[in-house]
Amino acid sequence: MATKKAASIKKSPKKAGARKSTTRKAAKRTPPELAEYRRKRDFSKTSEPEGGATTRGVKALRFVIQKHAASSLHFDLRLELDGAMKSWAVPKGPSLDPAVKRLAMQVEDHPIEYNAFEGIIPAGEYGGGTVMLWDRGTYTFWQRDPDPVARLREGYAKGDFKFVLKGKRLQGSWVLVRIKRGSPAKPQWLLIKHADEFARSGYDIVAQEQTSVATDRTMAAIAAGKSLNVTR
Ligand code: MN
Repeated sequence: MATKKAASIKKSPKKAGARKSTTRKAAKRTPPELAEYRRKRDFSKTSEPEGGATTRGVKALRFVIQKHAASSLHFDLRLELDGAMKSWAVPKGPSLDPAVKRLAMQVEDHPIEYNAFEGIIPAGEYGGGTVMLWDRGTYTFWQRDPDPVARLREGYAKGDFKFVLKGKRLQGSWVLVRIKRGSPAKPQWLLIKHADEFARSGYDIVAQEQTSVATDRTMAAIAAGKSLNVTR
């Protein structure tokens, strides 16, 4: 099994420290609507909430895209929702061109730990082949909202799932639209980039980005190397 061979790449202490200080800085930034509330209070003395960060105390939802050379090459898009990764197999991968609609076949939810997997699924096993971490990051509801997770949940249930990606390669506003094709057990969707500053007409990001976002390895190097659990 791939997991038996799993090794860990440890984050450097320097990196972890940098991230922490960024988080602290973000928490101190005051949105204009909270300026007066905060000015009147000393949060080292009161246990009232500072407010302002809708995700305060809640981890941002994660997403990952894995390039998967199984019986056919495809990209697996996974979006965290309610403790699991909702998953779609996208044969042609994402496109930054808003005019391009990419078929996305929903598959079973995956565990969140799957986000760190890069390596080889042995031949003969389900999905046997090479898996590359192609992009990852966090995602949110596409609009400001007091309960973004509830809005995401509604969008997903309706089959009109709008979100904003904050990955290394994919950013900005996207939608997954459920279409009336495929069996109810395996619904088919379309993955579409919304027109925004991250859209790029005619640009083929899947052709441009050929290495792992986590390890810089090519598919060939992953196939010839070790399976890894690459945590952030
Ligand atoms: Mn797959």
